Amino acid sequence: MARYLMSLDAGTTSSRCIIFDFNGNKIAMAQKEHKQIFPNPSLVEHDPMEIWENQLDVVKKALYNAKLSASDIATIGITNQRETVIVWDKSTGKPIYNAIVWQCRRTADFCDALKQEGYDTTIREKTGLTTDAYFSGTKLRWLLENIDGAKEAASRGDLLFGTVDTWLLWQLTKGAVFATDYSNASRTMLYNIHELKWDDEILAEFNIPKCILPEVLPSAHIFGHAHADFFGAEIPISGIAGDQQAALFGQGCFELGMVKNTYGTGCFMLMNTGNAAESKNGLLTTIAWGIGDNIEYALEGSVFVAGSVVQWLRDSLGLIKTASETCGLAKSVDDTGGIYIVPAFTGLGAPHWLSHARGIISGITHATRKEHIVRAALEAIAYQSHDVISAMVADTGISLTEIRVDGGASANDFLMQFQADISGVAVRRPQQIESTALGAALLAGLGIGLFENKDEVAKKICHGSIFTPHMDSAMKAQLLDGWNMTINAMIF
Ligand code: ADP
Repeated sequence: MARYLMSLDAGTTSSRCIIFDFNGNKIAMAQKEHKQIFPNPSLVEHDPMEIWENQLDVVKKALYNAKLSASDIATIGITNQRETVIVWDKSTGKPIYNAIVWQCRRTADFCDALKQEGYDTTIREKTGLTTDAYFSGTKLRWLLENIDGAKEAASRGDLLFGTVDTWLLWQLTKGAVFATDYSNASRTMLYNIHELKWDDEILAEFNIPKCILPEVLPSAHIFGHAHADFFGAEIPISGIAGDQQAALFGQGCFELGMVKNTYGTGCFMLMNTGNAAESKNGLLTTIAWGIGDNIEYALEGSVFVAGSVVQWLRDSLGLIKTASETCGLAKSVDDTGGIYIVPAFTGLGAPHWLSHARGIISGITHATRKEHIVRAALEAIAYQSHDVISAMVADTGISLTEIRVDGGASANDFLMQFQADISGVAVRRPQQIESTALGAALLAGLGIGLFENKDEVAKKICHGSIFTPHMDSAMKAQLLDGWNMTINAMIF
């Protein structure tokens, strides 16, 4: 009897395989990093074959570590770095070029031209996204325009395009299934999130033939089976979602207005909005998941520099040796002594969208010590997240009572308490901070009928610590005033 769920987490820096039992407890894990290829500082690529081979390796290793075989696995869920583009030859299975990674800026000029033309309004209305090089559409166009013979081969129907989920699904099924799920499709900038179809008008604008695109299917349903040749027995694949949407699912944010924030290198915050809420405050509208005929949407906002401000304290300033020290250092002082850090190292994301802004430290005096700087850096993560929360509240009119958190920096108790205080909401950190992988596994469980509905899924998610807001409102207002003044100083 198969008693386990397997999650394939194809991330930006590594591929992981995590095996869970049916209650969502982690049983085993294996992980392997892949090369980051930088042809120049603003271009980022991966080797698609390496991603596939590493994924196979980590599945085998995780099975070995857990002393299990393929027949013990009830089903596989896939979650992935979103927006990254792979194009391959349908008959040979060979990629025509490296994967163009979501971070890659090679199509920034084309996006600027689209904006100048005013086409960004059409894109926002149809896809819920801002016109940015980040998303897949312009990267796919670049491949077809720039790789010899690609455009002609694509028109003949000889090439296939996929995000990383589609690539792995096609490989695992030995080419039998060419599909993606709604959440991944909604990040391509080619998918009409209201009409639920690839958008003919955008495809024509980008000169992309429709035959290259995968079928878009519900996030939880049986897509196909991993071929028995790979692991010794067939395994169903019944869940797919992009990493942030999988985390939203793995955090059990199933109700309208529920929010998760992932504190990693950057922060990614998503709010379940049920229907497609339009943002007037610089957030993206995206598909959270499709389950059966039911599509749920989310608002998304990201903070570019979050945990990486801690890396900066460590690697560039040499103020700390390890990230975890920051918690004790920040708690060792009563406040930041009036200083603020805005770590706009690469501009500011939602809701400010100041791409040319750069960072600032304000309020420094003779009394400023290392501890104040460390504390201000952690507080900056919380203030930036608070600004995204405020945009979500302004867009939806929903006032939050709780945010659910995960990611490396969510381990920091000081940061979590400060977030609760400054945002006036409870911060709930699950026992299992592998929300992304768990989300994919739970989607797969739902897709294969192991769980009847999302209520059943919610029972599998164990809640860990909760941080409740304690700060009095006068202090909160004073601190936020200081933050807003510092941000405004950067704008004007
Ligand atoms: P990603 O998935 O983006 O690589 P992770 O979720 O692995 O990120 O989190 C890593 C980030 O979290 C790093 O930027 C690191 O500086 C930060 N981080 C890790 N532990 C802590 C901690 N205890 N306090 C603050 N930041 C931390």
